[in-house]
Amino acid sequence: MGYTLLTQPILNEMHTPEKHSQLFSFEFYPPKSPEGAISLQQVYSKLAELNPDFFSVTFGAGGSTRDKTFDTVVDIQNQGTAAAPHLSCVASTKANIRSILKDYQDNGISKIVALRGDLPSGMMSAGEFRFANELVEFIRQESGDHFEIHVAAYPEVHPQSESATSDFKNFKRKVDAGANAAITQYFYNAEAYFYFVDKCEKSGINIPIVPGIMPITQYTQLFRFSEMCGADIPRWMRKRLESFGDDKASVQAFGLDVVSELCQRLLDQCAPGLHFYTMNQSVPCLAILDRLKI
Ligand code: FAD
Repeated sequence: MGYTLLTQPILNEMHTPEKHSQLFSFEFYPPKSPEGAISLQQVYSKLAELNPDFFSVTFGAGGSTRDKTFDTVVDIQNQGTAAAPHLSCVASTKANIRSILKDYQDNGISKIVALRGDLPSGMMSAGEFRFANELVEFIRQESGDHFEIHVAAYPEVHPQSESATSDFKNFKRKVDAGANAAITQYFYNAEAYFYFVDKCEKSGINIPIVPGIMPITQYTQLFRFSEMCGADIPRWMRKRLESFGDDKASVQAFGLDVVSELCQRLLDQCAPGLHFYTMNQSVPCLAILDRLKI
């Protein structure tokens, strides 16, 4: 299931459901402790058996996990699976980003998830980059076509954007600057994704827009995350989840049903693949993929 750099003819085919080869990827955050590192290695080993296209590793706000992201990415790549570091540019300098890109290039990393990121609390200056399109442009200037660049997309609209229209224009700026693919913020409303993809096609955006999938394993943290990142939890889902209270097994069974059905619908229609926000756990993703018979 190798992930080839996408050329125009392939992209056009990818929107025909029967023909596209689907892309699967898993996202980790860098481990915070030696125990976390051991656990992540086990999670990685289980998920690597599925032969995903790549694993991606997040980058802490303001570069706070720079070394840990680097170590995790290189470790994954050395174990034989492609790895893509996330790189956020807010609060960073061009010299700093240049040096990070060079380190990745020197270590054989060829995919990158390019983001603006969010300013860590208490930090006032945005640095030399204001938005992710400027980072994409900078990566292309510095390293030509070396990196396959993935950017973030928001079918339910980024929470800080002025309007849905301006947010879409801003997304297009990232594509015009040289992004090869996009990964969406997670969502539970499939229609938002279909509408977004349709709008991309009508606007001449032909890169794959891969849905980001957040498995549901508990709900307090999910509500908190969703509030922050602007992901809508539909009322009927919220009410169901609330009604389960401390009954973790029911939350997980419901989450598995809902998210598996969402994934099936996305793949049956036009999604070019799935990107899983694993939260460094393998079991919820494996359960979904098992339902999907992948
Ligand atoms: P941008 O594309 O720059 O957009 C940010 C906001 O600015 C939007 O409201 C947009 O409409 C507006 N905007 C963009 N360009 C312009 C412009 N030229 N003029 C005016 N307004 C503009 N965060 C992390 O800290 N680390 C991670 O590893 C990480 N990984 C992520 C992975 C994925 C797949 C996703 C979807 C998000 C991730 N995030 C991560 C969160 C992300 O950093 C935040 O959502 C952040 O608020 C926006 O980043 P962006 O790259 O989408 O920014």
